Amino acid sequence: MTKPLIVITGASSGIGAATARLFSDRGHPLLLLARRLERLEALGLPDTLCRRVDVTDFDAVTAAVREAEAVHGPADAIVNNAGLMLLGQIVDQPVEEWGPMIDLNIKGVLYGIRAVLPGMLARGAGTIINVSSVAGRKTFPNHAAYVGTKFAVHAMSENLLEEVAGAGVRVVTIAPGAVETELLSHTSSERIKADYQEWKEAAGGALDAAVVAGAIAHAYGQPPQVTIREIVLAATGQQG
Ligand code: NDP
Repeated sequence: MTKPLIVITGASSGIGAATARLFSDRGHPLLLLARRLERLEALGLPDTLCRRVDVTDFDAVTAAVREAEAVHGPADAIVNNAGLMLLGQIVDQPVEEWGPMIDLNIKGVLYGIRAVLPGMLARGAGTIINVSSVAGRKTFPNHAAYVGTKFAVHAMSENLLEEVAGAGVRVVTIAPGAVETELLSHTSSERIKADYQEWKEAAGGALDAAVVAGAIAHAYGQPPQVTIREIVLAATGQQG
């Protein structure tokens, strides 16, 4: 039997790439979105449409979803995974670093949801998986603006669940602790990056992205009448 289409944002590295590999192994056609098209294509996955899309552009997200649905049928799930973490303190973090995080981590998630939700509601089926963070449940040093965006992801997911639960659409929040990916590399403060690395090493290392992909696939793989609303997972040694 043919498996349905799954859309994954931010699939060019880290958790998104690992999730793409896993769903592809399980036979799903995919739509993969990110700005680095060559990295999406390098995954070399079958039945996969790769599109260079900035997820902060609603029209581009929607157009790519419509294009993939015309080929592979309706999107049965979206993994709103694309995200940016620029660490700093409110007192001295460059203010220009806040806008891109808010645009991607909050608006990008809303755009991904909106691109697939009307179709899911019409069909009475579908799964929206939003990648938040443990930093969407509690605060961490130097994380003020980032935790703001991730608390927003938790809040939007919960509210969305209230909106759509009666219509057969599932909403899942994935909240990982530290994962070994490119995420930290974009932070501009070398001191904060070094402190974060030290914190990670003291915890015995971070999660492998494949583990988070496994959690996402586990939630998706439940029977349609079951919603795993949230999965919180972290390396055993991670404190906080
Ligand atoms: P990576 O930096 O490895 O991946 C981020 C992905 O987002 C990349 O594929 C990147 O692709 C994409 N992306 C960034 N900006 C845009 C944009 N404007 N439009 C489209 N895609 C974009 O980090 P992770 O895999 O760690 O991050 C994935 C998610 O997991 C994020 O939401 C993050 O907040 C969350 N998370 C990560 C944790 C960690 O410790 N790593 C812990 C908890 C949550 P490209 O640059 O090609 O556009």
